[in-house]
Amino acid sequence: MILRDKAIRKHSVKEYSDNKILSRFVFVHFVDMKNFRVITFTCALLSLSIKRSEAACGFESCPELDKDKINVHLIAHSHDDVGWLKTVDQYYYGTENQIHRGRVERIFDTVIHELLKNSKRRFVQVEILFFFKWYNDQSEDLKLAVKKLVDNGQLEFAGGGWTMNDEATTHYQSIIDQYNVGLKFLRDTFGSCGRPNIGWQLDSFGHSREMASIFAQMGYSGEFFTRIDFMDKITRNDELSLEMIWQSSESLSNSDIFAAVSQGHYSEPLGFCFDVLCYDDPIIDGNRFDNNVQFKVNTFLNYSTWLSQWVRSNHVMVSMGEDFRFQNAEINFSNMDKLIKYVNARQSKGSRVNLLYSTPACYLKAIHQLEQTWPNKTQDFFPYASNIHDAWTGYYTSRPTQKRFIRDGNHFLQVVKQLSTFANLTGPQHTNDLDILRQTIGLMQHHDAITGTERQAVASDYDRLLTDAIVGAETNARDALRILTNLTTGEFTSCLKLNISVCAFTQESANNLVVTLFNSLAHTSTQYVRVPVKNESYVIADEMGREVTFELVPVPSDVLAIQHRSNITQHELVFKASVQKIANFYVRVLSSPKSSSAKKRILGYQGPSDDNELVIQNSLIKLVFDNSTGKLKTVAMNGVTENIEQTFAIYKGYWGDNQGTVNRSSGSYIFRPDGDIKELSDKIDLTVYNGDRVQEVHQHVNEWISQVIRLYDGVNRVEFEWLVGPIPANDNSSKEIVTRFKSDISSNGVFYTDSNGREMLQRKRNEREDFDPDLTEKVSANYYPVTTRISLKDEKKHMTLLNDRAQGGSSLQDGMLELMIHRRLLSDDWCGVAEALNETQFGKGLVARGKVYLILNNITEKATGTESLNQKELHLPFWKFFSKSNSVATVLPNKLPDFTDLPQSINLLTLEPYSSDEILLRLEHVMNHNESNVLSFNVRTLFDTLAGQEIRETTLDGNLPLDEMKRLKFHHDVDGTDPSKVEYFTSSHKPLTANASMANSDFNVTFYPMQIRTFIIKR
Ligand SMILES: [Zn+2]
Repeated sequence: MILRDKAIRKHSVKEYSDNKILSRFVFVHFVDMKNFRVITFTCALLSLSIKRSEAACGFESCPELDKDKINVHLIAHSHDDVGWLKTVDQYYYGTENQIHRGRVERIFDTVIHELLKNSKRRFVQVEILFFFKWYNDQSEDLKLAVKKLVDNGQLEFAGGGWTMNDEATTHYQSIIDQYNVGLKFLRDTFGSCGRPNIGWQLDSFGHSREMASIFAQMGYSGEFFTRIDFMDKITRNDELSLEMIWQSSESLSNSDIFAAVSQGHYSEPLGFCFDVLCYDDPIIDGNRFDNNVQFKVNTFLNYSTWLSQWVRSNHVMVSMGEDFRFQNAEINFSNMDKLIKYVNARQSKGSRVNLLYSTPACYLKAIHQLEQTWPNKTQDFFPYASNIHDAWTGYYTSRPTQKRFIRDGNHFLQVVKQLSTFANLTGPQHTNDLDILRQTIGLMQHHDAITGTERQAVASDYDRLLTDAIVGAETNARDALRILTNLTTGEFTSCLKLNISVCAFTQESANNLVVTLFNSLAHTSTQYVRVPVKNESYVIADEMGREVTFELVPVPSDVLAIQHRSNITQHELVFKASVQKIANFYVRVLSSPKSSSAKKRILGYQGPSDDNELVIQNSLIKLVFDNSTGKLKTVAMNGVTENIEQTFAIYKGYWGDNQGTVNRSSGSYIFRPDGDIKELSDKIDLTVYNGDRVQEVHQHVNEWISQVIRLYDGVNRVEFEWLVGPIPANDNSSKEIVTRFKSDISSNGVFYTDSNGREMLQRKRNEREDFDPDLTEKVSANYYPVTTRISLKDEKKHMTLLNDRAQGGSSLQDGMLELMIHRRLLSDDWCGVAEALNETQFGKGLVARGKVYLILNNITEKATGTESLNQKELHLPFWKFFSKSNSVATVLPNKLPDFTDLPQSINLLTLEPYSSDEILLRLEHVMNHNESNVLSFNVRTLFDTLAGQEIRETTLDGNLPLDEMKRLKFHHDVDGTDPSKVEYFTSSHKPLTANASMANSDFNVTFYPMQIRTFIIKR
């Protein structure tokens, strides 16, 4: 993303950063492209006979270096957003050029053409989505030519995910999946030479430790990125610590990975942008009056020498690329050829610079061979601030409904993958529909998609794509369930509006309805199920025909009041279900209700009592509300009683003209509150529904904020279901809405947030691991991404919030946690999207609904992992399918695999078709090293019930045999001595390899805390 990112820099680097970036932003919008004539690629060029040569790719293909010189590695690349200002297809085909002149297909056309001209030229490709699209459209001759370029290392893949994913708001399940999709295409198409060695996360807005851990677990040797806090970068420049070893996990061994932060941005040096989107002069040589070789070479040598002072070795990387560069690769490569020629010619006059075409992997290999030591990093790179008022912490929450929709899409993807495996759906249509859903969920992880930092038209296009992908894959789910149950003509419809209690399938009648529940987890789960229905008399039966008790709960009046909500259904059936994998429940309307039995199940209204307090409680939890305010004031659970006040509050978003950081507006990227937070203090109206199994307090906070606080019998957490919107804008002020939980817990400035839904990281208010942050923005500088969990504690108590989508969160006071749940902003923040984050629907602000769960726990000697287990269940609750039937439906016997040998802390992370006769199985230990120990068990039963013939273990992504993994190992400064030889990491355990004829004991496996193991099972 091109942005006006004006980080304060201590050193005089402006000519290489700020002005350049600012001016390029203008170029992108106003460059006259009329004279740009794209070179047409013709197959004639390929008539030079192209055969796939002996592969010498990756580390084996690196250029020769000169150990006595400064080796300057030119990295030719193009950063191609899969949607941002334009949609993914508009960028690819080059339509809507009045918005932006991005045309990605032309990048590949011209780059391949230019690489074929000169074997020294190299190019780094990152986003596989675009490359996949282009490659599949090419002739067989051209495909062969491309393979040759991959085989000889000229075309090298970095990253290799379907997209360059965001790292703050993404869930690790989706990150791993999107790498599987990208890397599998590369493996199937190019073999081992298609596999990247490094992560390439240039544009993501801050960097997570879990992402580094995922790279390490995939066998990558390093990770390259750009955006870290401006004060961190200043400090690292001073301390020569832009390059480091990142200890990416507290629980996993061998998790070190090399991380390199660029000195400036990821653009080419000022004056060396040769593409059609630039105004820099080409290199003019020959006997001409305007020959500029000397000037260009001097400028480049000065830049290279200057750059070399920020690194610890005699190697520097120079990015020769930017957003959507290389749309005319001929201009780029011909000028780089000249640059290399004339810069290296200076060596005869004593120049110490050796300039060469290279790749990030080759750069990494070069510094690995130096056998020197490096500084250490253990935390992460959040939050990212680009200047004193520019904390990029708003996007943690931006577009909350889209963030939730992506979670739903991921959930459905897991359901469909498992169902497809169980029913062995391997036909072309099923495979295609599943692939499209996989690819679309991959697309949505992009750093301008799930972040909510794209334009509204692009967001709408993402929603369209995701809806279409889900609808397409519904066929797979339906066909699988028709095989796996006796409902051979069942509809198995999904309802995507259950969060506002709407389902078209049940709204006219829930008579003779089958609700099929799918549990994506490995272990039997007991949950409460809600089905929107009319206020009628029902009877529910399970698969055995046994009557199931239920309650009929009114939908909150604030939900009924949502504009254009179909209000046919005003109640929800609530019943408890225990599901191993799939279970059916049969719902029937009683035509002549036995009012005594049916009516008593309808939860009635109970107004607040006259006392000062209102109490609801079940066998596990007691909640006390203050009747004078309507707010929650005390929670008792797990043997702990704590004063916890929950409130909603509003930050006014700063609205400036963006002239300099001091006038920065709050926007889709940046969170910048204007003044103090305003807590909503008006008395909250309460309505209470008090049943045997579910108890609800409906809070009407104001005209556009309401909430249901809910307890289920036997469930050890409190549910807060919030409804926010339409956020009013008639007062011309931007608003950012938070939910706050205030306790008396003495947290002493410390709190914890998750990293992409996996390990927790300790945060300390106003502090960072490696540098002194600028705290001018004292609120937003303390905001962190909360993907699934935020918590705080003292010696006795532990308060945790679990959320249902990524949000920004913090602990701004001891004992208090807050999450930002919605935002409506009337100004852009000038980070590039050039549009205010002002989401509307039906002419008003967009309404959002979601859930936050509270767990209050006592502190025991050993953590119990309760929160981790809750988190898994909340991430993938039962998926509901609806069908019509005249009788009870059942799951057919022996159709489902047996997971019962898996310990409770082992979860099924992935089960999916991998090829026509292979499936991918990914198991994870969900507890950390404080919560659990090493677990050993046997997977033979699971293997057999999956009809396995052979099993082999791979890296995390599923595409490299684990015994072939070999990562570069770097050594820490704290080791004290330089290493005497180059070293590598290989798998820390013996990879599992077995087949059906082997003994059961050959299927024993061991899992360390937080370990994920990935297997391919041949059937
Ligand atoms: Zn980008």
